[in-house]
Amino acid sequence: MANQDDIFKKVISHAKEYGYIFQSSEIYDGLSAVYDYGQNGVELKKNIREYWWKAMVQLNDNIVGIDAAILMHPTTWKASGHVDAFNDPLIDNKDSKKRYRADVLVEDHVAKIEGKIEKEVKKAAKRFGDSFDKDQFLSTNPRVLDYQSKADSILKRLGKSLENEDLADVKALIEELEIVCPVSGSKNWTDVKQFNLMFGTKLGASADTATDLYLRPETAQGIFVNFLNVQKTGRMKIPFGIAQTGKAFRNEIVARQFIFRMREFEQMEMQYFIKPGTQKEWYETWKEKRMNWHLSLGMGEDNYRFHDHEKLAHYADAAADIEFRFPFGFKELEGIHSRTDFDLANHEKYSGKKLQYFDPELNESYVPYVLETSIGLDRMFLAVFSNSLEEEQLENNTSRVVLKLPAVLAPTKVAVLPLLRKDGLPEIAQKLVDELKWNFSVVYDEKDAVGRRYRRQDAVGTPFCVTIDHQTLEDETVTIRHRDSMEQERIPLTEVASTVSKAVDLKEWLQKL
Ligand code: ATP
Repeated sequence: MANQDDIFKKVISHAKEYGYIFQSSEIYDGLSAVYDYGQNGVELKKNIREYWWKAMVQLNDNIVGIDAAILMHPTTWKASGHVDAFNDPLIDNKDSKKRYRADVLVEDHVAKIEGKIEKEVKKAAKRFGDSFDKDQFLSTNPRVLDYQSKADSILKRLGKSLENEDLADVKALIEELEIVCPVSGSKNWTDVKQFNLMFGTKLGASADTATDLYLRPETAQGIFVNFLNVQKTGRMKIPFGIAQTGKAFRNEIVARQFIFRMREFEQMEMQYFIKPGTQKEWYETWKEKRMNWHLSLGMGEDNYRFHDHEKLAHYADAAADIEFRFPFGFKELEGIHSRTDFDLANHEKYSGKKLQYFDPELNESYVPYVLETSIGLDRMFLAVFSNSLEEEQLENNTSRVVLKLPAVLAPTKVAVLPLLRKDGLPEIAQKLVDELKWNFSVVYDEKDAVGRRYRRQDAVGTPFCVTIDHQTLEDETVTIRHRDSMEQERIPLTEVASTVSKAVDLKEWLQKL
C-alpha cells in the first residue's frame, strides 16, 4: 500500500489536474498557503456550503443566517480578545532557520505515538481474525496502554503550560521529547515566542488619518455584534441561532498541508444563543447534531472521532473538536465550543450598549450564553476530496482512478455521451442535456471512445453517465452507468431525470440526519 505522503501527493495533483484547486497566482510562483478553486472545485465547495446551510438554516426554524462584512470596527477585536490573545507559540530551528508552531511540533510527536497504537491494533486484528475485540484490546494490551499514557501525559503537560503561558516549559517539553527539526534534523531550538495571527490593514486615504483595521480572523464576531439586530427584527426567542459562512484570514506561522491550513479560508459558523446554565445540555446536543451531519454523508464512521480540549481558549468553558482521518492522520475538522457570555458581555463593556435578552418567561433580562459550531469549508472540502479519491484494481488487470464523491456534493451529476458522432445520436444527447440542465449540472461529451469518456467522468467524480446508442433510436432507452459500481442498466430515456434526482437529492441525504 502507498504511504501517507504518496497518497497526499496524489490528492494534491489530482485536485489540480481535474480543475478543483490551483495554487494562487501560480504564474508568479504562487503565494504561500493561498489557493484558488477551479471550475470543479467551485461547484464542490458551493455544494458543501449548501449542504451545511440547508441543514443549519432551512431545517431549523429557530436558526437564521446573516452575511456580515469582513472589515469590522477595530474595537471588535479588542473586545473579542484577539488583539491580546490570538497568538500562536512559535519556535525556530537555528540550523534550518525554519519556523514552527511549538504546539504543533509536540502534537505531531503525539500523533506518531498514536500511529504506533494503530499499528498494534492492525497487527492484532490480523492475528485474532473474527474474534478480535478492538475495545478490549485497547483497554488491556500493556504496550498500547503504555503508548496511550505517554500520549495523554504529553498532551496534558502541553495544555497546562500553554494555559499558564509558560513558554519555557513548552520549550523544555520539546527538548525532553528530543523532537528534531524535520528539515535539518537538529535539536538546536530558539526560545518559544508568541505571534499574533491577525492581518492588519488600513482604512482611509491619507497616512496620518488612516485607521488601523484587521481582516477578520473568524466570522463569529460579525454574528455577536448583530445579535440584537437579528433578535429584535426577527423577533427571535431564546434558544435561537445565527449562522454565517464567509472568508476569514489568519497569518498562520506554518501554513502547510495544502488547504488544511490556509492564510485565507472560509468558515461556516453557527452561534446558538441560550439561557445561562443550560450550556452543558446544548453542548452535548450540538456535538451529536454535528456528528450526525458528518455521518449523513456516508464517508465512514471510523473516520471521525471527538477530541476534548485540554487547553480551553480564553472564551470557553468546554470545547471539543470533531477530528477527521485526513491522509496525514486524525486532525481537527470542526470545533464545538461553549463560549459562555464571554463575547456578548465583552461587547457590552467595550461598546457601552446593552446586549441583553428579555426573557418573557422569567420576566427578566440577561446576557445569553453561546454555543458555537465552527467548521472550515476548505478543510471539509479536503476531507471529502481526499476520502473520495481511490485507485481501484479491476478484474482485467487494469486500474482506474475514481473520485467517489458523495453524489449530493458532486460538481456534475450526469454526463451525457452519444456513442457515435453520427446517426442522430448527438442530437438526442443534446436534447437530454437541455432537459436535465434545469434540474442539475450536466455535461455533454462526445470526444474519444466511450470507455475513455467513462474514465474521465470517474476521475472527476460524476456519479452517472448516460449513453445514447442505436438502440435508443429504436426503443427510446439509454444505458445509465453508476460510477462506484460501474454497473450499467438500460432504462427509458424518460426515467433518466428521476433516477438521477433520487440519488442526488438533498432531501434524500439530509433525511438521514
Ligand atoms: P487549528 O488548531 O487547526 O489552528 P483552530 O482551533 O484555531 O484550528 P478555530 O479557530 O476553532 O480553529 O476555527 C474553526 C475551524 O476553522 C477549524 O475547525 C478549521 O476547520 C477551520 N480553520 C481554522 N484555521 C484554518 C486555516 N488556517 N485554514 C483552513 N481552515 C481553518
